[in-house]
Amino acid sequence: MQRTVRQKSLPLNDRKWARLVETAEAYARQKDAFLVEYAHIKYLHYLGDKRTLRDELVSASFASPFGLQARMWKLALEDALFTLERQWEAAIETARGLVARHEELTDEEKHYAFWLLYRPRKGGRDWKRIQSIFTGEDVTGEQVKLDGAGRRRVRNYLRRVLRRVLGRRPRVKKARSFVVDQQMYRVFFTEKRQYIAVSTLTPGERVVIPLAGAHAVEGNLRVVLLPDERAVEVHISCEPVVFPAGSEEAGIDLGVTEVFTDDTGRKYRAEYGEALQEMSDYILDKGRKRQKLWALYRRNLERDPARARRMRRHNLGLAKQRKRHRRLRRRCENEINRAFNEFLKARRPRVVAYEDLSHLQGKAKSKELARKISGWRRHIIKERREYKWFVFSVEDPGPVNAAYSSQTCPVCGWVDPQNRKGDIFECRECGFTADADQVAAMNLKARLHDEEITRYTPRSKVKEILLRRYSENSAV
Ligand SMILES: [Zn+2]
Repeated sequence: MQRTVRQKSLPLNDRKWARLVETAEAYARQKDAFLVEYAHIKYLHYLGDKRTLRDELVSASFASPFGLQARMWKLALEDALFTLERQWEAAIETARGLVARHEELTDEEKHYAFWLLYRPRKGGRDWKRIQSIFTGEDVTGEQVKLDGAGRRRVRNYLRRVLRRVLGRRPRVKKARSFVVDQQMYRVFFTEKRQYIAVSTLTPGERVVIPLAGAHAVEGNLRVVLLPDERAVEVHISCEPVVFPAGSEEAGIDLGVTEVFTDDTGRKYRAEYGEALQEMSDYILDKGRKRQKLWALYRRNLERDPARARRMRRHNLGLAKQRKRHRRLRRRCENEINRAFNEFLKARRPRVVAYEDLSHLQGKAKSKELARKISGWRRHIIKERREYKWFVFSVEDPGPVNAAYSSQTCPVCGWVDPQNRKGDIFECRECGFTADADQVAAMNLKARLHDEEITRYTPRSKVKEILLRRYSENSAV
């Protein structure tokens, strides 16, 4: 697990800029070509063995049709394979959830489906199993009890699901960056400044990039173009310092005004709500304005083409918008990052109960917007959580089931939507009162040890179990 440090350059002159753009373009086209080629199912096993594919290409004397030097096409290949792997892993994860919640599959069918989608904790996935879902090859194992016809049914089901959740295959649309390895750059300093000289398409040639700050540079670098500023950002990966594991157990409940609340009732980053609101207002407002502008543009196209062209360039351009959007995003990301830091430093937990984010809905003003923002937010929170868990050595047994966690009394067990009134939880049975988000976090924490209510227990079953427990408790 690595962390990325970004170092900006000073604005570059025309010659340097042109060289870097040319390199990024060639890199993007090469990566895109690899993405298209190796997206095919028959190459899937290479995702578990990226080195082999590279070696095979080398021994077939592969030369980049886009003019990349040998070291660089190898990096573009690795980049493309990682992109494909990420897409597959995300799709498989979604498919696992769908299988678990699918009520018409028998236990044996589910078992076989999980076996096909299984990823061992250590070591890579067996991509042959995934491949068999698409090729129809009857792959099976000792623990699989299902007969041949049943296995075919499961593979057919998984094929449909995976096709759907994979969606469109990834492509590189814009040439925004390229990667160099340690042999392809040199770092040097003058009294005032740090410089990086990076390879381009021409062997032996290096473009000297003056950096705005200074940072230890090691390993592979990604050079990202910033066309608005005619500068680049150098992304450096570093190994983070890892803290030893703590001893406590904790629970967190995600929110929309703060990033989350923990089981002690502490709320992390109250500034988050405003940042999130600003971002959703901006996206909504921008959408409406642009729709009006496009309508105007289309009307002008016939009446006054010169004006339409000007509009296109000045009012419908994307550069400024992207910059603003990026800034708002960064602000939200920073709040999320700080929330995790503050929480982990304050609590030093050994394990943390958190909810599955796939149902996370923002209090956004439109459905479309809610979908956009919640998808983005889910991605950031997941990415940050995984990274911070790694840094603070937090155990991760996966998300817990969040059904009824905000309606259940943590003291007497009574389940009732009436228990919650806005921000306050007050049990209608025993009168226990606390902050509503804290109660949710407490309940999530308790589910860490719940053997009956697992992540995949359907919501209706959860209610049944909770009601049964309440009546058993009150009978004593
Ligand atoms: Zn109660």
